[in-house]
Amino acid sequence: MEKSNDQSQNGNDNECYQPTEFKLSDYLEDIDSISPILDKPNITNGHQAKQTVRRWALIIVDVQNDFVEGSMALNHFFNGEDAAEVIPAINRLLKYVEFDLVVYSRDWHPIDHCSFHSSSVQPKTPITHKWPEHCIENTWGAQYVDGLITDPGKFNPNVKKLSIQKGMKRDEECFSAFRGQIIESTQTLHEVIKNEKIDQIFVCGLATDYCVRETCHDAKNFCPRQETFVLVDASRGVKPFHPSKFQEIGVKMITTDRLIQSVLIHKVKSLKNDSSIINNNDN
Ligand SMILES: [Zn+2]
Repeated sequence: MEKSNDQSQNGNDNECYQPTEFKLSDYLEDIDSISPILDKPNITNGHQAKQTVRRWALIIVDVQNDFVEGSMALNHFFNGEDAAEVIPAINRLLKYVEFDLVVYSRDWHPIDHCSFHSSSVQPKTPITHKWPEHCIENTWGAQYVDGLITDPGKFNPNVKKLSIQKGMKRDEECFSAFRGQIIESTQTLHEVIKNEKIDQIFVCGLATDYCVRETCHDAKNFCPRQETFVLVDASRGVKPFHPSKFQEIGVKMITTDRLIQSVLIHKVKSLKNDSSIINNNDN
């Protein structure tokens, strides 16, 4: 996997992550489709009509030590992707985008989990892959990686934060955050998303082709009224990213830059609208 420094092909997307087998920008959603505001600004007699604000959820999948620098580190274990690169991307999202809901999931396995090479536990349903021991409950490997912002309320006081643990049963593999257990609530993740009236779901983290993709897949199945997006540059995989893997499950693709740009554009528009209201009142 090469990382291109040539930004000229990418328009305004200066993401550091540029898979080379295809032109990523061909697959990315337009900024309009991810605007935080649903309606066009409408000013009548100096008064701005009430706008419909889209409610956003961010699901951060498994940004844990073992996937970044531990037993399953994606920077050397498989194909040379560097999992640590998701940390600044995710932190920028948490600083600049006011999500209504931020969900952190993590693998939280018993020591003899059926997905480990070393385990003799028979899985309840067949599993396709066995892995090195990883993310064992209450160990360093299962902790969120150092440097990842885990208190989003510091930047966004209105955010609701949830933590999910998954893969806790020794005889069950569990890739999707939707199949895990929420620490702070007895509800399921899709019940929370419905109750919080979320309009658009953004998914990022590790690994793109397993837990991120399965989380996106469940988001499409359990939350069909919401749109689901994968944040390509805030995710890293076991195998190189390919758009078809998300297209085939109806998941849209964007970058952190586009999402942050849409928020900033809206803020600039709001300021201009405010000044036009002031100007109208002055007249
Ligand atoms: Zn696992």
